[in-house]
Amino acid sequence: MLVLVINSGSSSLKYQVRDVAAGTVLTEGLIEKIGMGNGGGGDGEPVGPRDHAEALEQVDAAIHEELGDQELGAVGHRVVHGGERFAEPVLIDNEITRAIERLNPLAPLHNPANVLGIRAITRKWPKMPQVAVFDTAFHRTLPEHAWRYAVPDELYTNHGIRRYGFHGTSNEYVARRSAALLDLPVEEFDGVIAHLGNGASVTAIRGGRSVDTSMGFTPLEGLVMGTRSGDLDPSILVFLGRAGWTPEDIDTMLNRESGLKGLAGNNDMRSVVEASESGNDKATMALAVASYRLAKYIGGYHVAVGGAKALVFTAGIGENSQQFRAQVADRLGALGIELDAGLNAGRSKEPRVISTPQSAIPVLVVPTDEERAIAEATAAVVSSIR
Ligand code: AMP
Repeated sequence: MLVLVINSGSSSLKYQVRDVAAGTVLTEGLIEKIGMGNGGGGDGEPVGPRDHAEALEQVDAAIHEELGDQELGAVGHRVVHGGERFAEPVLIDNEITRAIERLNPLAPLHNPANVLGIRAITRKWPKMPQVAVFDTAFHRTLPEHAWRYAVPDELYTNHGIRRYGFHGTSNEYVARRSAALLDLPVEEFDGVIAHLGNGASVTAIRGGRSVDTSMGFTPLEGLVMGTRSGDLDPSILVFLGRAGWTPEDIDTMLNRESGLKGLAGNNDMRSVVEASESGNDKATMALAVASYRLAKYIGGYHVAVGGAKALVFTAGIGENSQQFRAQVADRLGALGIELDAGLNAGRSKEPRVISTPQSAIPVLVVPTDEERAIAEATAAVVSSIR
């Protein structure tokens, strides 16, 4: 089955067409500046599509050119927030679209854009099966003691304030591939997965299911990220509010100006590593803060899963930064974790082991592929209803 995978943002639309059986990508692309016009200046700025429907026309033209008369079998949407309702991918109908829309307050930047993408497809191809694959769904197995914040119950009951977790699609895929590499059924996989991209989270997996994860009510909680702070004392926000910062000021500071960028002046891990290696003290400090934070979580999650059978690194930094992996592993000596320097320095698109045979547990690098996971989930849902 050919599946069009759509990742719809407020002003962008990323797409990929995949042949699910063959595991191949037939074509892919990114449409940007949706709804941005030409900035009103007429100064040569490229004009983006007017709206998501017009962006979809561009996608249609581009994929038609590549695919000729091969037909799409389904569309799979990456949907950021599935709230408490969605524990797995679902076939989209009007009621599901409205349910995703009702979750807008929980993901105000993402869910409305996802709904725009769904509605654009519904209008253009009314008969096309569409599946929503939720970033939160994999974490619906968190036990209550892990998802509760210790605040008055009404915050949960009236506002849905609890921990949801994100990066679920990636985690589910990486857990499966890690179990396969270890020759275990996924139901017997207990491990810790560090998904380290521009957004970063770490997840505790017990019996193939998520039992804790570092992102919470929003993707801000947890690790030090490219531009996000991760954990901090909530009183800091009260302090800043009293000092006259608006909610928007605080939001921008925590989500866009913090993390590696706040500490080292650069949100890109490769640049921070390079700066540190050429003697930049702030970059060295930023790497220490980020690796220390992650190591603390790994230690905690090793306990949460009852003894991990593996530590797994994935996503941009996890897959590519041997320096950051080494710094994290250096802090995990108490767990008996030991990297093999040669294997850690190697590169491959395939899942691999980077620890020594003496390491108490294997350390893996498992490339993630969210689009592939979404395409497979979409094909599975559509096949099950045919
Ligand atoms: P992602 O969001 O998964 O695309 O990951 C983006 C992050 O991966 C950025 O911080 C990049 O600097 C980092 N990254 C990508 N390639 C490398 C590399 N070769 N070495 C270090 N970091 C990398």
